[in-house]
Amino acid sequence: MKPVRLKQTYELLQAYEAFDHKNVSLEPPFPASIEDLLTFHSPEYINAVENLNNGNETNNAFNFNFGPGDNPIYKNIFDASLLSTGGSLVAAKLIETGTVDRAFNISGGLHHAMPGYAYGFCVFNDPVIAIKHFLKQGLKVAYVDIDCHHGDGVQHAFYDTDAVLTISIHESGQFLFPGTGWVEELGTGKGRGYSVNLPLHPYTSAEIIMWAFNQTVLQLIDKFNPDILVTQLGIDSHFNDPITHLNQTAQGFESIIKEFDKLPYPWLAVGGGGYDTIAVARCWAIAFAVMSKQKLSNKIPTQYSGKYSVDSLYDPQPPPTHSNYQSTIQSYAENSVLGIQKMVFPTFGIR
Ligand SMILES: [Zn+2]
Repeated sequence: MKPVRLKQTYELLQAYEAFDHKNVSLEPPFPASIEDLLTFHSPEYINAVENLNNGNETNNAFNFNFGPGDNPIYKNIFDASLLSTGGSLVAAKLIETGTVDRAFNISGGLHHAMPGYAYGFCVFNDPVIAIKHFLKQGLKVAYVDIDCHHGDGVQHAFYDTDAVLTISIHESGQFLFPGTGWVEELGTGKGRGYSVNLPLHPYTSAEIIMWAFNQTVLQLIDKFNPDILVTQLGIDSHFNDPITHLNQTAQGFESIIKEFDKLPYPWLAVGGGGYDTIAVARCWAIAFAVMSKQKLSNKIPTQYSGKYSVDSLYDPQPPPTHSNYQSTIQSYAENSVLGIQKMVFPTFGIR
């Protein structure tokens, strides 16, 4: 989760001269304000993170889930978190004011952060805070999270409202952190039917992920008819990822991004997980290119390929297949899709 993966993404796009394209402008982030953070986080938690900014442990850090493990304390943790959150807010404001119709904050997507504690490498929940900004303008938001992990913090924020449709496609909580994201997590009260979860079995292929996506996500978004599309583009679903087990490919990831690209809504994309840093750089460069209508050659420009020993933008080889699991993988996906069709589709009048 170290920012080197952002640097590698930036450098790759720079090597392709992608920032020089007529459709692109680079906007600096500003730090999110305390007021922005308060739209989701508790004052006690914000205060606790601020007190960690010098990098030294405080007496109460553990109460907020900081310490050894997923949420280490580091110098400037508060300042850095304000900037990555602010990046998503800059993007949201550019979209909301109609200045741009799409924006991508690769440093965002910290979907696990909870109101009162850090969780799963995430300090402040920028997708929630950006979506709250849209809601304040009276806009309806569809949030689609394709990170390998369940988008639990975002689901939690909007569990009881019908103003935000949250959809998370992820490796099943049976096998992976955070252990949630079941089809049965539908939302409550007015929000019932507006939280959608599509759990998948380890080693699910790009083809099956795409099939499951096509069976559910597009129809739901179409019926919900949002004002804004927000996507969390975590690429820890990639088969090279060291901490997860889905078998997504760069090509499969691009196919999903191309489906988002066809939708008629203003589009805010944020980053997310991804722990094979070169797979992150390649896939987010691909997403950036689709969003800005550019075509990048498969051959990576030499200044980058020489530095990072990577030649092709797309995966040259498919991932190894786990043939013993094929029927389990297939029926797991079918079950999840069927569950959504049975439990969620009626809310939207889809038959
Ligand atoms: Zn993740």
